[in-house]
Amino acid sequence: MRRKLAAGNWKMNGGSVELGEIRTLMGRAATRQTDMLICPPATLIDRMRALLGDAPMAVGGQDCHTATSGAHTGDISAAMLVDAGASHVIIGHSERRQDHGETDATVRAKTTAAWNAGLIAVICIGETLQERENGQTLDVIGAQLSGSIPDEMTPATTVIAYEPVWAIGTGLTPSLEQIAEVHDFIRDQLGARFADGADGVRLLYGGSVKPSNAADIFAVSNVDGALVGGASLKAADFGAIIDAL
Ligand code: PEP
Repeated sequence: MRRKLAAGNWKMNGGSVELGEIRTLMGRAATRQTDMLICPPATLIDRMRALLGDAPMAVGGQDCHTATSGAHTGDISAAMLVDAGASHVIIGHSERRQDHGETDATVRAKTTAAWNAGLIAVICIGETLQERENGQTLDVIGAQLSGSIPDEMTPATTVIAYEPVWAIGTGLTPSLEQIAEVHDFIRDQLGARFADGADGVRLLYGGSVKPSNAADIFAVSNVDGALVGGASLKAADFGAIIDAL
């Protein structure tokens, strides 16, 4: 049985003021059977971890470099995220792929770096609108899976987030049938490549999840939780999504 995971991606949002939002979620974390993860900007990771104390909420980064240290101005290594208190890191978000030209090979290398530092990698994949309209969705997802995930993947070190690019921050979502088709496909692909290791890997859906659609999406086969952007910034909305899990 896979535990559900509600993950929030604050993106480039939030400072000292927004950090306080997390307090209202702490009680929820203690009483629910759902794992919770917040990925704030790197500048807030250590303060968020300190604020959460022993509360069973994980804190994660939104990206890491492939190298452990060195002359990479502005970048952050996986070891630095661990040092700041992170246990997870999002890798290959479509905004990183678009804004920073990250390829499947980059994502694969960053995932290995994350694992080497002891982080759980939340690997993002998803098709563009054009790819969906061209009927290429499963081909794209298949290629991203094989290109982005290193051979050493285990359920303990990896979460996969299916995030259609066209659904992120747009208010649009695929139909429940479309989500089921992709999640079932991902599960099958992992099973074919990793045998028994694949069944425990959690598959998150991401893209305009909000309180009003969360319960329906969470009822879809092979959806083990959500990666939530905009709605994770408001504790009331994120709390309602967690309650729907
Ligand atoms: C995301 O950034 O991963 C995301 C899913 O964003 P949103 O929920 O705002 O669509």
